[in-house]
Amino acid sequence: LPLAAHDALEIIEEAGGEAWCVGGFVRDALLGRPIHDVDIATSLPWPAVQEAFRDAGWGTVETGVAHGTLTVVRDGEPLEITTYRTDGTYSDGRHPDSVTQASSIEEDLKRRDFTINALAYHPARGIIDPFGGVADMERGVLRSVGDPTTRFSEDALRILRACRFASQLGVAIDPATFEAMIACKNLLRQVSGERVYRELERFVCGDYVHDALMACVDVLAFVLPELVAMKGCAQVTKYHIYDVLEHTAWVVQRTPPEPLQRWSALFHDMGKPAAAFFEETDEGPVEHFYGHAAVSVSLACGIMHRLPFPAWLRRDVPPLVRAHDDVVPPNARAVRRMLGRLGGRTDLFAALCDIKRADALAQAPFCAPRADAADELRALMEQILEEEAAFTVKHLAINGRDIMALGVAAGPEVGRLLDACLDAVIDERVPNEREELLAFAEELRKEAS
Ligand code: ATP
Ligand code: MG
Repeated sequence: LPLAAHDALEIIEEAGGEAWCVGGFVRDALLGRPIHDVDIATSLPWPAVQEAFRDAGWGTVETGVAHGTLTVVRDGEPLEITTYRTDGTYSDGRHPDSVTQASSIEEDLKRRDFTINALAYHPARGIIDPFGGVADMERGVLRSVGDPTTRFSEDALRILRACRFASQLGVAIDPATFEAMIACKNLLRQVSGERVYRELERFVCGDYVHDALMACVDVLAFVLPELVAMKGCAQVTKYHIYDVLEHTAWVVQRTPPEPLQRWSALFHDMGKPAAAFFEETDEGPVEHFYGHAAVSVSLACGIMHRLPFPAWLRRDVPPLVRAHDDVVPPNARAVRRMLGRLGGRTDLFAALCDIKRADALAQAPFCAPRADAADELRALMEQILEEEAAFTVKHLAINGRDIMALGVAAGPEVGRLLDACLDAVIDERVPNEREELLAFAEELRKEAS
């Protein structure tokens, strides 16, 4: 138990209250997973909590007073302290109509979503586990506390939380709980886009996302209907052994668990069902997906505008999806060109290599050597950076003003000439030296006029 949490329990007890660690902390500690925050439940009403922590010299923030939650801060580390509560009826499927103080920790644990989240721990008194959460954890099962349909009807977000825990923890969803998720999925309509996005991002970044995506696709399809066409969309080519959905699930699984790579991977082949085209050959029908990357970009942009994706993902995901299938031969020239197409963004190029690598690993076994090709591209990029070789017009030894000094009027022609110079530099037809480039540009200008 982190020292600050230990001290917090003591402060509450000295003020005459009872206190327990609850929620994700207890679950993650038992699973041996990294701990990121500790939630504390207490019998003290929040004004008494506030007084006790102020007296002890801690900072306090009134984050959720209506729900009895107070955030206390020591050395910049926040801890959430919530008074035992029972949630009243839910008429909107989102918020309890009322929140009342509960008389005991057992009472408080009843309102929690899943058995593995309904555990309380105290360093002196041990664990309270009224719903068999520890046994479920040992069996690797996620199960609702109480009747699952009731619990999902109260708060539909729990449906997505279940998918997210499956992806983060690798637990299997209990059949009765899963059935209720399917039965209640229409209620997801009532959940705000922000809350949906937050859960989906944790879902795609989970360590067990392949299994979770395959298991939860029919639930997730309520918020991402684009997944439906991917399911069962066979790929009749020599490169593929999976349908589009399962191939995608493997690619997502094999990229680093960062939102940029994971979302790009989820979207990369989304356009395939729409782009699929069969050709009859002597060896039977062969399927092509001409232009699927462009369709994937369009679907990805639609999703990222329908759900409140952060602006940086709306900017950075499309170029990666667009380029995921572009052939980049393992030579410096090709890498510099691709870097240029990605606007000089070396971080995007590195992410593209991550996706290409994962994509190759998820294809038919004989494609595996192509995973090495992606690593080779990445090494080439490092070499290019070390040599400070040019890959955008910004790196050229001349700029727009130099071009205009040759008598070219300000306008698109200036950019065209600079692009032509960059092309020549990348092709090593002209060295990246001022005099040579000026002469080359002058030549081009004369040709053009
Ligand atoms: P993590 O913090 O790792 O994302 P967590 O389980 O701690 O996971 P929080 O959102 O921090 O999730 O919530 C803390 C605890 O509050 C949960 O463990 C659960 O007991 C309870 N809880 C959170 N959201 C809900 C909900 N929508 N319905 C019921 N109980 C909930
Ligand atoms: Mg938490």
